[in-house]
This record gives sequence, structure tokens and C-alpha cells, in this order.
Amino acid sequence: MIKAITGTKDILPIDIPKWRYLENTVISTMTRFNYKEIRTPVFEETSLFARGIGEATDIVSKEMYTFIDRSGTSVTLKPEMTAGVVRAFIEHSLDKKQSLNKLFYISPMFRQERPQAGRYRQFHQFGAEALGSNDPILDAEIIIIAYDIFKQLGLKNLSVKINSLGVPESREKYKNILREYLDKYFNDLTAESRKRFDTNILRIFDSKEGQDQKIMENAPLLIEHLDTESLEHFEKVKQALLSAHVPFEIDPKLVRGLDYYTHTTFEIVSGSVGSQSALCGGGRYNLLVKELGGGDVPGVGFASGIERVLLACENEKSFSLSEEKIDLYIVTLDKELNGFSYTTAIELRRHGITVELDYLSRSVKAQMREANKLNARFVLMVGGEEFKQNQILLKNMANGEQINFEKSDMNKIISLLKEN
Ligand code: AMP
Repeated sequence: MIKAITGTKDILPIDIPKWRYLENTVISTMTRFNYKEIRTPVFEETSLFARGIGEATDIVSKEMYTFIDRSGTSVTLKPEMTAGVVRAFIEHSLDKKQSLNKLFYISPMFRQERPQAGRYRQFHQFGAEALGSNDPILDAEIIIIAYDIFKQLGLKNLSVKINSLGVPESREKYKNILREYLDKYFNDLTAESRKRFDTNILRIFDSKEGQDQKIMENAPLLIEHLDTESLEHFEKVKQALLSAHVPFEIDPKLVRGLDYYTHTTFEIVSGSVGSQSALCGGGRYNLLVKELGGGDVPGVGFASGIERVLLACENEKSFSLSEEKIDLYIVTLDKELNGFSYTTAIELRRHGITVELDYLSRSVKAQMREANKLNARFVLMVGGEEFKQNQILLKNMANGEQINFEKSDMNKIISLLKEN
């Protein structure tokens, strides 16, 4: 038997209502903040991600689904969205039409990671990117959107962690200070961190290994070496968060080890999902558009993992959905009337009513059972003595009330179903 690929997951009909609930929450929040949806292709040229995410990252160095297509082009399934959004932004000169572009997305992503709870190879993210302004208010807005979405989903156990990476000049100076410090402990670092020493020194802060963490405990911090401009930017972000009543803590070890990241970086963590606790991550990337061949356009954004957010919602029982219902089930008493039932169903559906009927030649009893199983609000009985008198019977399943209608009087039935 062929099974789904390791690390991928079917989202079955029973799970769809909570996905829709989350997606609708995302769409309505983004709309209120005036973010417009963008959809980009599932695959892109590999070089976009190599440049847009960075060769030194785990994603690019070991997690991408890359293949050569039949024309010899190296293509990659998107592992994240920012690079594709920025590519589209440049390709369509979106900044010529609008000086500030506020965009959002909901999309599958692909990374060949080791599967574990909360980590998949095909997963889904929603997120936002604001391109065109360096205003610290926008850094805060991006954090507030993510926070508000989680709050609306009923999540409680949240912490917002923020940090600043400053501008590249002060960061370069700081990297030398860090290098000087780590030089003394170089031989005590893990092999992975020794590699990062040359390729991406900031990311040694991300190491989960005790021996690295012990050394990093006393490492000099970037936040202590920021220039005035960066400190001012950070201060404004903090003020904007405070005035929006978003609680946060400063985590000076929260780093994004890529050169085009600037200023704010943040993560929202849930205490309800075990080790894979980051619900979202993001920050400002003022140098990325240029890196990908566009103009000098600043940007800020975030991405959040839907599976993980839903896991947190489930663990916290943060929202409950009402049972799914249908408006009407048509019970056909005589097989010769199947045609009448069928055309009635079509007509009512075209008037916006959710209708189901029997396709399996079931007995009347079995049809009634099905109507109950589907939580039908009403049942229409087609057939028997009534039908010979040109009547059909509508039964309200909530209170048992039964009303007879002329079978030609569909409008009355439609009105009644719409009123209730
Ligand atoms: P990143 O793009 O790595 O900053 O990840 C942003 C968010 O996407 C994370 O905080 C997670 O919620 C989610 N995420 C990342 N990788 C995975 C994965 N392999 N499976 C499920 N969710 C993921």
C-alpha cells in the first residue's frame, strides 16, 4: 500500500473546521491592518533561496527539496515565503504602484527536517511582510498582528521575545568583539559551533548543546554594543508595543545570523507545545531587497507555523467550534420520486441552502438516521399519501414541529429555511 511520505500529513475533513477557523482569523486580522494577500509559486529557482535565505543557514545547507527539472534548471520547493515575496515585489515593481506594500500569505512550505512532534516536511505558514518603510511602528505592528491572531485564537500561554541586531556596521564591530571572546574557548566549542565561528558566528547563540551554552552565558552581547540610531529604533519599537499592551521580554541572545537582517528580531513562544515552542519568528530585513537585485527598500515581517499554532490551541483547548450542521435532509419515501427529490435539492442549493439526500437507495429509517448523523436542522419528507395530494412535509428537527407545503410552493420552503 502506498502511504503518505514521511513528515507529510493529510488534513482530513474532520480537521478542516479548525484550519478554516484559523485561516479566517488570519485573513480578518490582516484585513483590519490593511495587509493584502499575495500567492507565489510553490517552487522557485534554487538560487533565489540560496541568496535570499543564505548559504550558511540550516535551511539552505541541508533542508531544501531541490531537484533538476526536465529543462535542466535547478528548482526548489519553497522552504519559507519571504524570498518569494521579495522576488515578486521586485519582478512586478510593486513599489512603483504603492510606496508601502503590506502583504500577507497562507501557504505550504517544504523542508527536509527530522520529523518529530511539531516538525514536518510539508507544513504550513501564515505570515506578513511590509516592504517600503523603516518606521519602527511597523516593526511593532508586525509583532502586534502575530500576537493579536494568537490571542484571538484564545491562546494564553504566550511570551513575546524581542531583540535588536542593529545596523550592519555596529554588528560587524560587535562580531570582532565576540570573536575575540570565543577565541579563548575555541577548542571547547562543539564542532558545529567551531564551523559557525567562521561562517555565521552569531548563530553560536542558537546552539542547544550544554557545552556551547556554558561558554555563551558570559559572552558579550550585541545589545550592549549597539549604535545610537539602532538603540533609538529599538526604543520606539518597545514604546509602540507597550502602548498596544503587548507584554514582551528582551532576549539579547535571540539572533538571526544573516547579514541582511537589521534592527528588530522577535519570536513568540508558547508554553503549551513542548520543545518545538516557537509559534512564530520574524524581524526587520532592510538589506534583503537589494541583496535580491531590487532597490534600497526596507522590509519587516514574520512567519508562523500553522500546525504548531493549532497544537497549542488544542493543548490549551483555546477555542471550541460549534458542531457542523446542514440545513435540510430530503428523505425520499418512494423510489419513483428520486428525480423530484434530486431536482428539489438542486433548486434549494442554488438558493443558498445546504441540502443532502440519499444516493444509496437506503430505507426510510436509514435515511432518517443519516439526517440525524448530519445534524440536519430540517427534514423534507417526499412521498406517501401527502405527495399524492401534492403536499410535502417539512419537519423541524429541533422541536419536532411539522408543516405541510404544496409541493409547487418551493419559495415558502426557502423562506422558512432561511428564517430559521
Ligand atoms: P522559520 O521560518 O524557521 O523562522 O519558522 C517560522 C515558524 O514556522 C516557526 O516558528 C514554526 O512555527 C514554523 N515551522 C518552521 N519549521 C517547521 C517545520 N518543519 N514543521 C512545522 N512548523 C515549522
